[in-house]
Amino acid sequence: MQSLSRRDLLALPLLTSRPFAASAFGAATGRTRPNIVFIMTDDHASQAISCYGSKVNQTPNLDRLAKEGMRMDRVFATNSICTPSRATILTGKYSHLNGVPVFNRFDGSQQTAPKLLQQAGYHTAMIGKWHLGSNPTGFDYWNILPGQGVYNNPVLYDKDGSTTYQGYATDIITDITIDAMKNRPKDKPFFIMSHHKAPHREWTPDEKHRKMFENRHIPEPANLRDDYAGRTDAIREQKQSVFRDLTRLDLKIPPPSGLSAAETRKWLSVKPTEVETVVDGVKKTLTGKELESWKYQRYMQDYLACVQSVDDNVGRVLDWVDSNGLRDNTVIIYTSDQGFFLGEHGLFDKRFMYEESLRMPFLVRWPGGIRPGSTSQAIGINCDFAPTFLDLAGQPTPTDMQGASFVPIWKGKKPREWRRAMYYRYYHDPGDHNTRAHYGVRTDTHKLIYFWKKDQWECYDLVKDPAEMNNIYNDPAAQKTVATLKRELYRLKKEMKDDDQFADAQPTDSSYVPAPPPKK
Ligand code: CA
Repeated sequence: MQSLSRRDLLALPLLTSRPFAASAFGAATGRTRPNIVFIMTDDHASQAISCYGSKVNQTPNLDRLAKEGMRMDRVFATNSICTPSRATILTGKYSHLNGVPVFNRFDGSQQTAPKLLQQAGYHTAMIGKWHLGSNPTGFDYWNILPGQGVYNNPVLYDKDGSTTYQGYATDIITDITIDAMKNRPKDKPFFIMSHHKAPHREWTPDEKHRKMFENRHIPEPANLRDDYAGRTDAIREQKQSVFRDLTRLDLKIPPPSGLSAAETRKWLSVKPTEVETVVDGVKKTLTGKELESWKYQRYMQDYLACVQSVDDNVGRVLDWVDSNGLRDNTVIIYTSDQGFFLGEHGLFDKRFMYEESLRMPFLVRWPGGIRPGSTSQAIGINCDFAPTFLDLAGQPTPTDMQGASFVPIWKGKKPREWRRAMYYRYYHDPGDHNTRAHYGVRTDTHKLIYFWKKDQWECYDLVKDPAEMNNIYNDPAAQKTVATLKRELYRLKKEMKDDDQFADAQPTDSSYVPAPPPKK
């Protein structure tokens, strides 16, 4: 463990929530720079990871990362949706400064962490789900899914063309990740982004894990049947309800035979209000509350089966790193591009600033730098990832990045000036799920959300009400708190240079990219 010299302390800026001189903590001075393996899934909620207290599954390999490293409990997405979060992770900037507030094409000519790592002498690789609508830049090697990609027998493409792989996406992305580590140039440290499709909708598990969960009863969250009393219109108007908005495809109801491909797609897109099923060998039509409970079970069984395959495959990466002499000097990170609702408030999907969607799981192991079994409550954001990668490589944080390196936190030295609140902004409106645009602030103890197109507010006391059921915005007793939070919200909005430049952003360009023709 390094200790801070007097010179390092002097290099820290005075009281500010701006990033600090990351190089003051330079992880790399006088030692071999660590390799970085960044594993990211798509839509994996921390409520479905056992070291975060899951009530619905066990994830022994992710737990192993936490046990041998650190579990960060307050890392948040600044715009809780796939493509924008990925752009923020690469650039260290909020959506309004990296040009990706909604599903639109990422401009790969801009500054990114992988490019800076490459210039600093790292071998860089990107494997799996990219989902940014343009080809990767700043990588020595890349091999990615086109757009969302598919779970079974996926096509991936690199600079030379596409290849169809036989098998299940999570296994295949792990195979390619391990191959990339095997085939790396041995005279350089490496940085690998290994991005899974799982457990994204439509939650298609492989057969082995599907079977593990097919008859398992998953406990329902206490607020699955939230009546939204006291909340604003936004949560009533959304179309991401487990009971109302899951389709036949999501629920894996087999279509009748004899339909054309177009008819099958249409049939599968229906949100069923009754479902015929077989209970104890007897045909039964489910409706009402019975159907609602059944839908939750079907959703969660498939979601958790997809997660279980991720957990197995994280274990494969850990085993490979450990058995190839790379354990001590490799930082392994596990995260997801945002959180997800697993029935809380009756929801699936993400987008809202509520805790389940806002929070990203963040586990990191680095035997050379992190005390095993440690945890952190520091407020982190996805803008911090790029400065962290650069700090590990001994590189300073560019002044236009909006995050700060986690390295001092990992070393148990949370700087006094670390942020005490984070700014959030979600743009798509109506988007795929009719989720109202909003922005807000989250502190250690409270959250204030402004659905600005509606001019409606919500405020939560996260200590007394962690499930965010009691909107205290209009409580007379809360008015001082609300006023303080409002000041902090607008201070942060200004500090992060959000001038509403993308206030009415609508998806301009699908982030789907067709794979180029197969390789010759
Ligand atoms: Ca996502």
